[in-house]
Amino acid sequence: MTNRVPTFSLQRIIFLVVSLVLCVQVGWWINVQIRESGRLLQARTQALKANCAQAWQMDSLNLLSSIHTRSDPASLEQRRQAIRQNFPHVAVVPAPLSRDDLALLNGAGYLTLRPEPMIELENQRWHSVFRAATEGAFMVVAVLSGFVLLYRKLEQELDLKLRQRNFTSAVTHELKTPIASLKVWTETLFTHSLPDEQKERIHGLMEKDLDRLQELVGNLLDVARAESGSLVLHLAPLELGPWLHSVCDNMDQRLGPGALGLKLEFSPEPFWVSADPKALATVVENLLSNACKYATEPRETTVTLDGDGDDVFIVVSDQGQGLSHKDLPRVFHRFFRVGDELTRQVAGTGLGLFLVKEIVTRHRGKVDVASRGPGLGCAFTVRLPRLPRPEDG
Ligand code: ADP
Repeated sequence: MTNRVPTFSLQRIIFLVVSLVLCVQVGWWINVQIRESGRLLQARTQALKANCAQAWQMDSLNLLSSIHTRSDPASLEQRRQAIRQNFPHVAVVPAPLSRDDLALLNGAGYLTLRPEPMIELENQRWHSVFRAATEGAFMVVAVLSGFVLLYRKLEQELDLKLRQRNFTSAVTHELKTPIASLKVWTETLFTHSLPDEQKERIHGLMEKDLDRLQELVGNLLDVARAESGSLVLHLAPLELGPWLHSVCDNMDQRLGPGALGLKLEFSPEPFWVSADPKALATVVENLLSNACKYATEPRETTVTLDGDGDDVFIVVSDQGQGLSHKDLPRVFHRFFRVGDELTRQVAGTGLGLFLVKEIVTRHRGKVDVASRGPGLGCAFTVRLPRLPRPEDG
C-alpha cells in the first residue's frame, strides 16, 4: 500500500504529460491550418485585385491603340462590355468605392472589385477554419477517450494487484494470529494446573480462535467455489422471519453479549423466498460480523425485515465507522478493504462482502450499501424476489 501513491502519481503524471503534448500538437495543427487558409485567402485576394490592374491595362491599351491607328475610339458602353467579358469579377463604377479602385482613362469611371468573390473567399476561409477546429476537436476527443480508457484499465489492474497483495498479508495475519494464540492456550493448559473457571475461560477463547479460523477457511472455500462456478445452491422455499431470527440470535451469542447491540425490526407479515438457508446465513453472518468489527461505541445494530411489491428486503444497519462516498461502490470488490494494511486496526481479508454479493446475485437478488459518511454508520440492504406463500399455490 505504501507503493500506491508513487505508482498512481507516476501514472497520472505520464497521462497528464501525454495529454498535454497531444493538446499542444493539435493546437499547433489547427494554427497551421488557419494560417494556411489565411495565406490562401491573401493570395486569392491579390489575384482578384490583379484583375483590376489587368482590366485597366487592357482598356488603356485599347484606347491608346485606337488613337495610334486613328480609328474611332470605343464608346463608353463598349469599353464596359469588354471589361465585363474579360474580367467578370471587375465592375466599372462612376465613383471610387475603395482606395484601391483605379480610374479609367478619359473619365470613363473607376474599376472596382465586385463584393461577391470577396465574400465567397471569406466564407471559404471560415469554412476551412471551422473544419480544422472540428477535426482537431474530434482528434482530441478520440485520442483522449482512448487514453482515459487505457488509464482506467491500468488503474483497475494496479488496484487489483494492490488489493491482492493486501489480501495475502491479511490472510497470513488472519491465519497466524489464531494459530499462535491456540498454541499458547494449549501449552498453558498442558503445562499448568489451573482452576476450573480459568480453564473454562481459556476454552471460550480457544473456541473463538477456532471460530475465526473456521470462518476464514469457509469464506476462502466459498470464494474459490464462487469464482470457479462450483458454488452449488440448494434452493427451496424459505420463510424468512423465523429463519432470520435464529441466524441473528446465533450470531449475537457467538459475538458475545453487547458486541452488536442487536435490535430486530421484523414486519409481522410472513415473507417467503427461494433460498439456500446455509448460503443465505453466510450473507447475514458476514454483514453482522462486519457490523461488529467496524462498530463504534455505543454499539447499535438493527436488522430489519420487510417487503415492498415483489421484493423482500433484509437491512443490516449499524452506527459504526461508516464509509466514505468514494469507497461505497468498491466495498463489494474482491480483496477491497478501506484504508491501509499498515494502519488498519481491524483484521479481515476483503472477501466477506464479495462473497455476500456473489451469493445474493445467485439468489437473483441485489445487495446495496448506503452510508452518510465516515463515522456515521452504514446500512446494507439485501433484496430478494418474493415467493407467494406455498399454500397460496
Ligand atoms: P473484511 O471485513 O474482511 O475486510 P469485507 O469484504 O467484509 O472484508 O469488507 C470490505 C471492507 O468494507 C472492509 O475492510 C471495511 O473497510 C468495509 N466495511 C464492511 N462492512 C462495514 C461496516 N459495517 N462499516 C464500515 N465499513 C465496513
